[in-house]
Amino acid sequence: MSTEEEVLKVRSKLEKMISSDTADHSSAVDILKSLQELPMNLAVLQKTRIGMTVNNFRKATSNEEVISLSKNLIKIWKKLLPETNTKSDKKEKSGSKNGDSMDSESSEKKSENISERRSSDAASDTSDPIRIKCREMLMNALKTGDAHVGRLDPEELAGNIEDNIFNEFKNTDTKYKNRVRSRVANLKDTKNPDLRVNVLSGMIPADRIAKMTAEEMASDTMKTLRAKYTKESIDDHQMAKTSGTCTDLFKCGKCGKNNCTYNQVQTRSADEPMTTFVLCNECGNRWKFC
Ligand SMILES: [Zn+2]
Repeated sequence: MSTEEEVLKVRSKLEKMISSDTADHSSAVDILKSLQELPMNLAVLQKTRIGMTVNNFRKATSNEEVISLSKNLIKIWKKLLPETNTKSDKKEKSGSKNGDSMDSESSEKKSENISERRSSDAASDTSDPIRIKCREMLMNALKTGDAHVGRLDPEELAGNIEDNIFNEFKNTDTKYKNRVRSRVANLKDTKNPDLRVNVLSGMIPADRIAKMTAEEMASDTMKTLRAKYTKESIDDHQMAKTSGTCTDLFKCGKCGKNNCTYNQVQTRSADEPMTTFVLCNECGNRWKFC
């Protein structure tokens, strides 16, 4: 079996564990350890997007060993990713330079790498009660409304945003607090959900939202970005490679409309049952039937 096939097999096991909610820590640990032993490379990482799965898995568990194994795996894999010149990545400069291999990659792959990288980019530790409180406020603002709206974890994202603001002012005085408060107010604004979606999806990176003016946060650009994200998430959906069948049999749980496309996919290995992936054509919501 090729590394790619093995990774896909492991990924499907992890996905099952995430969706089934069964907290079997010892088998999770075994699975993660088996991943550690596979000869991972950039191509396999990008093709399988196993990093995303492990990251989601880490978020879904409360087991310390599983969390630390997952974090460690992601740390090792990050070093395989090509360098990017975004500011929020400066903490990761110890990684190897293999920029040449990047030239052949499509721009979609690039943005995928960046969002995958950011999604697991931990904010710096702080024991400052003011900073902790500000991170909490940002996190709660990000959690307003539908929590499953983006790819990124609100808690980590809040930490990254706060980090950027703190690094700009180097203190927690009035200017810092005002900056945090204005982000919180705008992210919570139910009349401007596009801003929150764009931040949670990574369309607006943490270092950018940290600095945006009130006008920028309220601008129409937010709508355009959100539409772009929805389109991208449809485009890059791993299963949507084969054109799906339009149907009104499924009702979207998010927007309530019956305009969906579904794909039946023979996942990974032949001994597994077919999986039905449903995509809402109205709002881009996706779910699966196992
Ligand atoms: Zn929908």
